Amino acid sequence: MKVKQAEKFKGRGMRKCRICGGTRALIRSHNLYVCRRCFREVASSLNFKKYG
Ligand SMILES: [Zn+2]
Repeated sequence: MKVKQAEKFKGRGMRKCRICGGTRALIRSHNLYVCRRCFREVASSLNFKKYG
């Protein structure tokens, strides 16, 4: 039986930064879905330590 995997990859536009829309170095952990660049800004608001 073939398992449906479409739900996991719903479209190509799913995996992109929700701030700048970039797809580079996307961070999906912590349910952030932001690129590394924007992560720094988000991290400060989320009380994250320096990334990298
Ligand atoms: Zn970004």
